[in-house]
Amino acid sequence: MKCSQGGNFSKGELQRFGNIELNPSAGVLNYGQGLFEGLKAYRKEDGNILLFRPEENALRMRQGAERMCMPAPTVDQFVEAVKETVLANKRWVPPPGKGSLYIRPLLMGSGAVLGLAPAPEYTFLIYVSPVGNYFKEGVAPINLIVEHELHRATPGGTGGVKTIGNYAAVLKAQSAAKAKGYSDVLYLDCVHKKYLEEVSSCNIFVVKGDVISTPAIKGTILPGITRKSIIDVARSQGFQVEERFVPVDELLDADEVFCTGTAVVVSPVGSITYKGKRVSYGVDGFGAVAQQLYSVLTRLQMGLIDDKMDWTVELRIL
Ligand code: PMP
Repeated sequence: MKCSQGGNFSKGELQRFGNIELNPSAGVLNYGQGLFEGLKAYRKEDGNILLFRPEENALRMRQGAERMCMPAPTVDQFVEAVKETVLANKRWVPPPGKGSLYIRPLLMGSGAVLGLAPAPEYTFLIYVSPVGNYFKEGVAPINLIVEHELHRATPGGTGGVKTIGNYAAVLKAQSAAKAKGYSDVLYLDCVHKKYLEEVSSCNIFVVKGDVISTPAIKGTILPGITRKSIIDVARSQGFQVEERFVPVDELLDADEVFCTGTAVVVSPVGSITYKGKRVSYGVDGFGAVAQQLYSVLTRLQMGLIDDKMDWTVELRIL
C-alpha cells in the first residue's frame, strides 16, 4: 500500500515474497523513517486461525507514525490487510501446538529525500513467516545481563515507539551479551541509571509475594501488547499488579522475574547478572506465577479457553 505525505493509503495488493525496489535516497534508508509491528496467528484444532489483538498493533503503529512524521493506515485498513495476508498464506500457519505464523507489518518513508525532512511518499507492507520459540532455550529460563553503559532509549527520544532505529541501537550490547552466553540484555533508565526499563525486545515483570511489578510506561519503554494483556490476565487471576518505577535492586530479592512479548510470549528469567553478581530464580522451568500467566495467555491465544475479553479475531477456513 502506498501513500503520499498528507494523503491516505490506497488499497494494497498481494505480491509474491521477494526483494523490493527502493530509491537510494528513500527517507527510510537515509533518515531511519521506519516503523514496524509484530503479531502472531495461531491454528486452532478446528483448522481456523486466530489473530491476537491486531487492532492494538494498528493503534500502536498509528501512535508511532505520529512521532515519526509519517502517515499510517487506518485501524481498519491495517487489520484487513493483516487478515488478507494471513489468509493468502494460510498453509504456512503451523498445526496447533507446533508454533505460529509471525506477521511483520512495516511502514516506511519510501519517497526520495535529500535534505533532512519527512519523505514525500510512504509504503506499508506485510510479510509473514512460520516461527517456533524466540530464545534458543525455548520455554526454559533465560539469562539476562544488566547493561550499564549503553541505553536503548532516552527521555524525549523514540524508545516508546516501534521505530527501526531503536533496534539498531541495541545490537552492540545484545551481541556482546550473546557472545558471553547470555540470552539478552536488560536496560536501565539513562537518567538515574537505577530503574528497570526493558529487555531488547520484550517487557519485564518482577514478582514478590502476590505483587507483580513492571516498569511504568513513560516514553522510553515500548508499550507491549503482551505486557498490557498480562497485566489484565494477572489482575483477573487475583494478583496485585503495580506499574511504577522499579529500582534494579528489587531484582536481588525478587521471587520470580519474567519477560513478555509477542515473540517471547511469557519467558521466565532464570538469572540476572548485575554488576558482576549473578542472581538466580528457581532451578529449572517456570516460576509458579509465570507458569500460570503463560498458561492462561497461550490457551487464550490458541482458542483453548473462552475468550471473555474478546481479544482474538477468528479467520474461518472453509
Ligand atoms: N519491548 C520491545 C523493545 C519490543 O521490541 C517488544 C516487541 N514488540 C516488546 C517490548 C513487547 O511488545 P509486544 O508485547 O507488543 O510484542
